[in-house]
Amino acid sequence: MKARSLLVLFAAFAALAPASVDNSSEALRGRLLPDLPEHLEFAQKDMLHGQVQDALAHIGLILMDHATYHINFDTVPPEKQAECTAAFRDAIAMWDRALGNGFELDEVPADQPAEINVTFQPEVKQAGSEVAGYVTWSRKVVGGTDGTPIHMDFTADVRVRTIQPDGEQMLLEHMRHTSAHELGHVLGLDDSPFYGDIMGPLDLQHPVSDFESAELENLRAVRTQAEEVKEQALAMKP
Ligand SMILES: [Zn+2]
Repeated sequence: MKARSLLVLFAAFAALAPASVDNSSEALRGRLLPDLPEHLEFAQKDMLHGQVQDALAHIGLILMDHATYHINFDTVPPEKQAECTAAFRDAIAMWDRALGNGFELDEVPADQPAEINVTFQPEVKQAGSEVAGYVTWSRKVVGGTDGTPIHMDFTADVRVRTIQPDGEQMLLEHMRHTSAHELGHVLGLDDSPFYGDIMGPLDLQHPVSDFESAELENLRAVRTQAEEVKEQALAMKP
């Protein structure tokens, strides 16, 4: 059997050893990052106390319904850049199809501030290991005590590699899987141990271009609840 080239996609704080996972562990598919249900709980509590602005800030962190991103290149040759941009935009479109109306990420020029900073670069390493990409993020609600209005504060730093560890180019399909995977973390999904999942590791021979529907169940459920809280909050807003 030919050895497969695999690149593990890393989350900010979670690294998985896919080979050690029992494939019957279906519960490992579509897991949420713990902070997502926490923000829903905060929002629901805020609503009980009539703190509408707080609730909306927590909901905004779940829904990502008006976030911005920009794409940067670090020593990526100009002739490769259009492919990188297409891969990332395709990944956004995948999420758009999967989540529908409540999801809205807008691209802004690279010299303008954006919540999500995307950088394509020849190689990406995490903790000394070659990875296809990674994302670090911060999701919090700020303001209220210092005179500024309460608002959501979200930032993410996404890295996507353009050259495979053996020197071959990363293809659009590889960068699209990687981009969609990192956006999955931005939206609150944890890693999956399963090859074939967007949130699973990247198999260079079989990059994934669509979601297993089971991957989206928990995320869709928490987003539906968040939409309900948002509706209540907007109805109460003076
Ligand atoms: Zn990951």
